[in-house]
Amino acid sequence: MSDHDLVVRGGSVVDGTGAPARTADVAVTGGVVTEVGKVAGTGRRELDADGLLVTPGFVDIHCHYDGQATWDSQLAPSSWHGVTTVVMGNCGVGFAPVHDEHHQRLIELMEGVEDIPGAALHEGLSWEWSSFAEYLDAVERRPHDIDVAGQVPHGALRLHVMGERGADREEATPDDIAAMAELARQAVEAGALGFTTSRTLNHRTSTGDPTPTLTASRDELVGIASGLGAAGLGVLQVVTDFLDLESEMATFRAMAEQSGRPISVSLAQSPVMPDMYRDVLRLIEQANADGIAFRAQVAARPVGILLGLQCTLQPFMTNPVFREIAGLPVADQARRMQDPDFRRRVLEAAIERDKTKLGGRLIDRFGNMFELGDPPDYEPDPATSIAARAAAAGVEPAALAYDLLAADEGRTFLYSPLLNYAEGNLDAVGEMLRHPHTVPGLSDGGAHVGTICDGSFPTTLLHHWGRDRERDRLDVPFIVERHCRATARTVGLLDRGVLAPGYKADLNLIDFDRLRTRRPEMRFDLPAGGKRLLQRAEGYVATIVSGEVVYEGGEHTGALPGRLVRGAQPAPA
Ligand SMILES: [Zn+2]
Repeated sequence: MSDHDLVVRGGSVVDGTGAPARTADVAVTGGVVTEVGKVAGTGRRELDADGLLVTPGFVDIHCHYDGQATWDSQLAPSSWHGVTTVVMGNCGVGFAPVHDEHHQRLIELMEGVEDIPGAALHEGLSWEWSSFAEYLDAVERRPHDIDVAGQVPHGALRLHVMGERGADREEATPDDIAAMAELARQAVEAGALGFTTSRTLNHRTSTGDPTPTLTASRDELVGIASGLGAAGLGVLQVVTDFLDLESEMATFRAMAEQSGRPISVSLAQSPVMPDMYRDVLRLIEQANADGIAFRAQVAARPVGILLGLQCTLQPFMTNPVFREIAGLPVADQARRMQDPDFRRRVLEAAIERDKTKLGGRLIDRFGNMFELGDPPDYEPDPATSIAARAAAAGVEPAALAYDLLAADEGRTFLYSPLLNYAEGNLDAVGEMLRHPHTVPGLSDGGAHVGTICDGSFPTTLLHHWGRDRERDRLDVPFIVERHCRATARTVGLLDRGVLAPGYKADLNLIDFDRLRTRRPEMRFDLPAGGKRLLQRAEGYVATIVSGEVVYEGGEHTGALPGRLVRGAQPAPA
């Protein structure tokens, strides 16, 4: 008989506390780490980690698997990137609590805000719930590859309590606020990790309306937060444009102060106000100095969009000549694009293009658009933009973009970094990642499936910042601490993110020299044949959840030890 369920032998252990790497074995029994060091006994299963990095599993606190978690046991792409716990329900969108007559509205909200196809949500969601507690039960009935936790979204609360008035962004009455606070209290008592809201104009429903929560009053936000305060449970998450910085931050402070609950806000460098993130960080420092638990969630790389024939957006999507072939399968579009006469007509019409149409401001910024290679470069040199390459070659940028899209059977991706790239590099990201009151976030795993593929942030964080970047690299133990223990603590999960006796046995075995993301790919495997961008990684030798190997060499082993995490979890005794 073996002494342990699992022993990982001789790896370079980076334990999630920030301590330097040390060569050690890790023993696991009953889903929990039992020993780190020289492990004497034998394991029922033994993994040789010689030459590998051994880390806790990553905890990604900013995901949108709210639909997928109900119909899919694999929480990909996050689970392909070393993530062993995902937190969903961010940005005020989700599917509970809900009255039957509002199903369509919540689908439109998720489709619009997070770019998840409405048809896939229609077919995939069973709606076997009304309350948030019943929604959690539905998620819990399905075993998953990795752990998943939910948060109660403001958008759903507003529709549930206020109906059309809520959708139309009318001011909430004191009765409305009390009712939403009560639902939020019930949700965290049922196991929601927190309450989330959106105050950004970038978020719209699929019918083009701003989100129901955009202009919610301070009274409303503080009132709902107080529902969490009454329960003494849960965290608060917000996304905002910071248009009125002082007043927004004062509102968020008030939410945290009055409820006594921790708060986090999404933060990225804006191309319009490239220094504003520093003002936000200063206000966050002030809040922490005043005893408020306030964090910023920051990204590992640009928040960027992918454009291509397979994607929701591409530079010629509004071109009247291109539209002649827009209904064809992608490979056929690419073939037709090879025709010299068709090419000439498209490029002539490109000049006439109406810039007010859908995506018109994003789809042909060739000075900030790059060909995405394999492996992708997420900190591309501005001298390699489509515009710069076209100028060097003496051709029109549109012509170069056209020829790239027509190649490779239409599978080319162009990449346009929207946020965090105001200076043509990631220096601002480095500054944000180093800040003591930030944690990595914003991967949006499970969302934006036709335009953005940032569920791979954890992989980029580790190899780009820990190995590849030429200047201002981050220490690997620091990165691991941030993406394991610090993110877990931010949402109240004190039972994971560290490799020490008593902690949950979620681990990665990583061939660090080989670690990289692959080029994204478009799959048509959502319900109703919906498409989604997915992205593989190389270098994850094994990912372990609760002591069971769930991925080996990037392939799912079939094991589904992932569970719904209900509420905050205490640290091991
Ligand atoms: Zn989000």
